[in-house]
Amino acid sequence: MLIAGSGPAGLTAAVYTARAQLSPVLVEGEPSSTSDQPGGQLMLTTEVENYPGFPDGILGPELMAAMRSQAARFGADIVTKKVTKVQLDSSPFGVWTGDPSAPDPDYVAEAFIIATGAQALMLGVPGEDRLLGYGVSTCATCDGFFFRGQHIAVVGGGDSALEEALFLTRFASKVTVVHRRDRLRASRIMQERALGHPGIDFAWTQQVAEVLGNGKVTGVRLRHSTTGEEQELPVTGLFVAIGHRPNTAVFRGQVELDDQGYVVTRNGTATDVDGVFACGDVQDDTYRQAVTAAGSGCMAAIDAERWLEARGS
Ligand SMILES: Cc1cc2nc3c(=O)[nH]c(=O)nc-3n(C[C@H](O)[C@H](O)[C@H](O)COP(=O)(O)OP(=O)(O)OC[C@H]3O[C@@H](n4cnc5c(N)ncnc54)[C@H](O)[C@@H]3O)c2cc1C
Repeated sequence: MLIAGSGPAGLTAAVYTARAQLSPVLVEGEPSSTSDQPGGQLMLTTEVENYPGFPDGILGPELMAAMRSQAARFGADIVTKKVTKVQLDSSPFGVWTGDPSAPDPDYVAEAFIIATGAQALMLGVPGEDRLLGYGVSTCATCDGFFFRGQHIAVVGGGDSALEEALFLTRFASKVTVVHRRDRLRASRIMQERALGHPGIDFAWTQQVAEVLGNGKVTGVRLRHSTTGEEQELPVTGLFVAIGHRPNTAVFRGQVELDDQGYVVTRNGTATDVDGVFACGDVQDDTYRQAVTAAGSGCMAAIDAERWLEARGS
């Protein structure tokens, strides 16, 4: 049993498969880039207030450290490397964690669980990284509650940006949608809802040039897309809603991916390859929550366990 990824999905799959005596190897990623961060996306945040069981909330990195210890306690073999190549024609599968041109795989697995998550696309402007979790967010469902009565900005012009903006009107005193063009690319219905909402205004043809603040967000510096003229928008929160990218490059051509690159699952967590399962954000562009990722990690573990049992392994 090999599991790729150590976010809530992969670690939950590891807890379940370890307790089922399947001796899982969990390839947790390498601390070399945001997408391969062991522990996954919650390592990039501060307070998590919506994961059940923590009435006072818990810091993202603390939650992930606890999940990792739980998987290790039941005997999961956690390897701090990333999957660099896979051969998933049929079980047993070959998994490389070093030089992908090496002739032999580093691991051979009878069943394989993909839990490599996704990453929110970021603007790449000064201040953004530094203030992530301190006013900069990529998830309105997760963080909207922290911005009650405040003026916040949402960057983006697609359906998900407007969905986030509409959701945030429940908390914020005002939501300003910052969009680099003079028209939205969201669906007509979403545009109508957002344009007609009294709690939302628009900063058209503006790009965020810098996120301002020392320790927490106090504003954003906007730059006009054509004239280059700059102005400051005093906000206490910035929601970046310009899309997500699933971490599936290494699986392309090996399992079915949809047109956005997400792994396609059916009948629970099964992929189109017998013995390969997928869970968490890598196969979910709808819910994107720690608890849904953990839940689907449990499902993948049980699906994999039953699949192995059915073939007599
Ligand atoms: C800033 C921020 C704040 C958030 N706050 C909340 C919140 O408050 N509440 C909430 O419910 N959700 C929150 N979320 C969303 C939540 O973090 C995700 O839904 C959840 O982490 C998805 O879990 P996952 O296990 O599917 O994937 P991820 O957490 O993305 O983990 C993916 C894992 O795969 C590994 N990986 C990637 N590529 C490879 C490879 N080639 N080989 C091996 N490993 C690989 C990575 O190292 C990582 O361990 C937040 C997200 C962000 C970005």
